Amino acid sequence: MKTIIEPFRIKSVEPIRFTTREEREVILKAAGYNPFLIHADDVLIDLLTDSGTSAMSAKQWAGIMEGDESYAGSKSFYRFESMVKKITGDEFVIPTHQGRAAEKILFSILGGEGKYIPNNTHFDTTRANIEFSGAEAFDLLNETGKHPEIRADFKGDMDVDALVKFIEEKGVENIPCVMLTVTNNSGGGQPVSMKNVREVKNVCIKYDLPLIIDACRFAENAYFIKKREAGYDDKSILEIAQEMFSYADGATMSAKKDALVNIGGFLSLNDENLAMQCRNLLIVTEGFPTYGGLAGRDLEAVAQGLEEVVDEHYLEYRIRSTEYLGEKLLDAGIPIIEPPGGHAIYIDAKRFLPNVTPDKYPGQAITCELYLEGGVRAVEIGSVMFGKYDKKTGALIPPPMELVRMAIPRRVYTQSHIDYVAEVAIEVFKNREKLNGYEITYEAPMLRHFTARFRKL
Ligand SMILES: *Cc1c(COP(=O)(O)O)cnc(C)c1O
Repeated sequence: MKTIIEPFRIKSVEPIRFTTREEREVILKAAGYNPFLIHADDVLIDLLTDSGTSAMSAKQWAGIMEGDESYAGSKSFYRFESMVKKITGDEFVIPTHQGRAAEKILFSILGGEGKYIPNNTHFDTTRANIEFSGAEAFDLLNETGKHPEIRADFKGDMDVDALVKFIEEKGVENIPCVMLTVTNNSGGGQPVSMKNVREVKNVCIKYDLPLIIDACRFAENAYFIKKREAGYDDKSILEIAQEMFSYADGATMSAKKDALVNIGGFLSLNDENLAMQCRNLLIVTEGFPTYGGLAGRDLEAVAQGLEEVVDEHYLEYRIRSTEYLGEKLLDAGIPIIEPPGGHAIYIDAKRFLPNVTPDKYPGQAITCELYLEGGVRAVEIGSVMFGKYDKKTGALIPPPMELVRMAIPRRVYTQSHIDYVAEVAIEVFKNREKLNGYEITYEAPMLRHFTARFRKL
């Protein structure tokens, strides 16, 4: 088999800025050893997130010029709407400025005190919007999905028995909908099988509950189904996506992921009454139903991006480039969540730095070192981000995993960039004995990871 190449050539380039290690020492110290506080200009390869960081195609940029900025009934809206309908099969398409705006609208109506909403794993903004409404969010991930070292094809699957038990316990009348996140971002970008979507749907039919898909990475998920699940090899990505959505009653989507744009999102629904209520809220918080917080040009770029993302050559390159980075790290003995997911590689910081306890933030130590070693920016997903304090003793209560996520922006970096990232990570791994962890010197009462400052131990 020949090398899987980037399925594009480069028409416009954006230079990246090189710094010396000495310069990075000064920059990181000034940022309080928190890579969130580093100016992006001082980063060489930025793997902080795959959200809103995609490179748009020439056709998308052309769409930016073509965008129809009419307040009502814009031609760009109708192109956007027909593309979303084609993929999801949903009758009602509501544009929003990003994924969380779709969540906010949906849960303002479906949520509220005394309500319970299950998912394979809720993404943080979904959980936050559910909890903000007064409802409670529950994760019902299957057992293998909770073990980073176990290799399985569909570690994003929901535990269907747990779902049935959950509905019986909480009472079907208290559950407004069931959600499935494809791929499972918070669980390592692991895919959900079609079999699981079907099984979850059957439970929803039995209890007469709507199924809502968090569709941020629907195309990456469809590609995994094509490659890994029996019976899908001959189907196109669009057909697989259409089947997946055919089991759902609606979807929330951040277009900043699999629609290959820098801003945008939508809520799609097949229930007219619910859609009417959502549109009424949309008008209060986002805008008129044919633009919903976006410019006409943004809608045009999303429509074009949705056409491009289901291209199999694109997805083959996309999934392979993530896997390629994962393989290089594994070959060097670096522990990661296995198998590599769709959009990111997650280093298992507990196994990488076994002597640095969670209260010394091993993920933060690795993240800082990746920057110092090679100007690579990753993000800690562990005790800094999700740690809580015991109210009595003040001791840290760490989350189950200490991870460092390297998310790969879509169509932005080439194979040699990825080779470079692997070299940097391997160098950090070789020198891991020298890392002692960090302590926090400042933290905000909420979402501390964004603004916390640290001291090197
Ligand atoms: C990014 C993301 C969201 C939220 O989307 P935003 O556009 O960032 O508001 C919701 N769910 C998942 C799975 C995501 O990855």
